[in-house]
Amino acid sequence: MIPIPYGRQEVTAEDVRAVAAVLQSDWLTQGPAVPLFEREVAAYCGAAHGVAVNSATSALHVACLALGLGPGDRLWTSPITFLSTVNCALYCGAQVDFVDIDPHTYNLDCDALARKLERARKDGRLPKIVMPVHLAGQSCDMAAIDALAREYGFRVVEDASHAIGGSYQGRRIGDGRYSDITVFSFHPVKIITSAEGGMALTNDPQLARRMELFRNHGMTRGPELMTGEPDGPWAYEQVELGFNYRMTDVHAALGRSQLLRLDDFVQRRRALALRYDERLDGLPLAAPWQHPDTQSAWHLYIVRVAAEKRRQVFEALRSEGVNVNVHYIPVHTQPFQRRRAATAWSFPEAERYYAEAISLPMYASLSEAQQDHVIAALGRALGA
Ligand SMILES: *Cc1c(COP(=O)(O)O)cnc(C)c1O
Repeated sequence: MIPIPYGRQEVTAEDVRAVAAVLQSDWLTQGPAVPLFEREVAAYCGAAHGVAVNSATSALHVACLALGLGPGDRLWTSPITFLSTVNCALYCGAQVDFVDIDPHTYNLDCDALARKLERARKDGRLPKIVMPVHLAGQSCDMAAIDALAREYGFRVVEDASHAIGGSYQGRRIGDGRYSDITVFSFHPVKIITSAEGGMALTNDPQLARRMELFRNHGMTRGPELMTGEPDGPWAYEQVELGFNYRMTDVHAALGRSQLLRLDDFVQRRRALALRYDERLDGLPLAAPWQHPDTQSAWHLYIVRVAAEKRRQVFEALRSEGVNVNVHYIPVHTQPFQRRRAATAWSFPEAERYYAEAISLPMYASLSEAQQDHVIAALGRALGA
């Protein structure tokens, strides 16, 4: 039996044709496909600007750089996230701290955030950036985070790597109503893919320009960004220390072609989630709870089982060809992060969540027959 992965891409003949067309064109990179992809994603989400890069990790990094995050600054995020959310701040020389998760959504707990901000204000240790992560594709409580941002003066970058196609309060994630920058990932396990790739959306033209600078060596040909009169029409200036984080036109072609099916992908994921909800009902597990303000993009379908059974259930599923996974090992428990921690970190909700979590297979092309196999195997593993 072919194992069922926890997530995978769906690439069609049209996707292949779109990529081949770029391969046979004049531009493999820095051609027309990247700016088109940027405009299309921004328009889809209702944001003014899109800045495409070679990964979401790079997008998070240029977002932090554009907001001026540097040594002496602090970024706060959730411990239940992928390593990139934290590393992007460390690349800037900033310090990272965490806010525990909400036990229902597994997203950053806004009450815990409010309490921590109040303490930090007294100690003069407020964060410059708070980076909420929309775990599994479900939006954080962005209105609450925005209210706190106004009160405490921090900037907000949404790590929406899981969440393109999802919405919050009836509006698409990425519209920037409650944040400075929103970042999407186009890694193959995410909702749409460009193989590797990411994008940062913003409504602030200044931030967009800064992110474009940082993705391209800190180099500009725009006279308005130069420090002096250009020598001539060939002139370029390096005005910052940037990187080569550009997306290629080949990748953008795949991303553009996939974007046409984004709504369809999310619809199929939602149908699978509903089907899991119905058919797992009665088993000794906690299904993902959805806040009424949110419509998840359903990157992941995470269940929680008794901590003492988690390993056994995980291994039983794997042995039946169901390649479940765990998202995520709390970042603050990673050896590298522990080594650099100023204090002994403890986030009880995140740790409790981690001990119980299993991500079931979830992707647009998962068939109902495959899903039934997953459900049956899970039932057996739980002794039900
Ligand atoms: C996948 C992911 C990233 C990194 O995305 P890449 O495109 O692989 O760099 C960052 N944050 C979260 C929450 C992710 O799931």
